[in-house]
Amino acid sequence: KANRKFHPDDSIINVGGALIGGGHFAVMAGPCSVETPEQVLETAKACKEAGATILRGGAFKPRTSPYSFQGMGPEGLELLELAKKETGLPIVSEVMDISQLQYFDNVDMLQIGARNMQNFTLLKEVGKMKKPILLKRGLSATYEEWLMAAEYIMSEGNEQIVLCERGIRTFEPKTRNTLDVTAIAMMHELSHLPIIMDPSHAAGMSRMVRPLSLASVGGGADGLMIEVHNNPAKALCDGPQALRPDQFNSLMKEVQALHNAL
Ligand code: PEP
Ligand code: MN
Repeated sequence: KANRKFHPDDSIINVGGALIGGGHFAVMAGPCSVETPEQVLETAKACKEAGATILRGGAFKPRTSPYSFQGMGPEGLELLELAKKETGLPIVSEVMDISQLQYFDNVDMLQIGARNMQNFTLLKEVGKMKKPILLKRGLSATYEEWLMAAEYIMSEGNEQIVLCERGIRTFEPKTRNTLDVTAIAMMHELSHLPIIMDPSHAAGMSRMVRPLSLASVGGGADGLMIEVHNNPAKALCDGPQALRPDQFNSLMKEVQALHNAL
């Protein structure tokens, strides 16, 4: 069902009014984790003003260490909904487990994180839902494995999927991950599903977000996911890769100019 052969036209995914794919460009921006009402509201307003089309924010966090901040849980989703009411931006947030799905009624798009890309039970469950799914590429997933994960969701009836390349594990230790720009052209060839790029989790460093974003737009991506925090130094998660609102604002101007020039 994800195969371009049987569906030649680009799929266009509607996330609470924000369109992705078939020429529609989306920017999902916001903090790695929802932390406080002030943090999420201030960041959300700045993202909206800069031109983001969807607000991101994690409430359930897949942290490498069990001793790191695990996210606010259901309360975090409530704060995200508050930010949606304030800004009008649709929201996307990660669901790590089926037991958490009960809290996602008012979330516009469900994110399946890299670590859960092959959690087939979770994939089938979100496949029964009527909400768009953001399917991140697994840490070391091949294109085939990634598309098969999409297929798990689609086989249950949900065909509203956006792929997200967020960097893969390579032999290079200087960056958190290696952003695979080839994935854009390859996925557009193999599939009709839109693909967005997440330079924040690929680089792990805020100063690399701009060049990787521009490479992604130039490479034909259908959108970007960028971590933005009102105070990156104080972030409880992924601070080093977060852009300040002013940095995000100038990047958005360049992104829009480049996209319009294509
Ligand atoms: C995230 O988006 O904050 C996240 C945890 O992403 P990934 O699953 O790509 O690591
Ligand atoms: Mn993050």
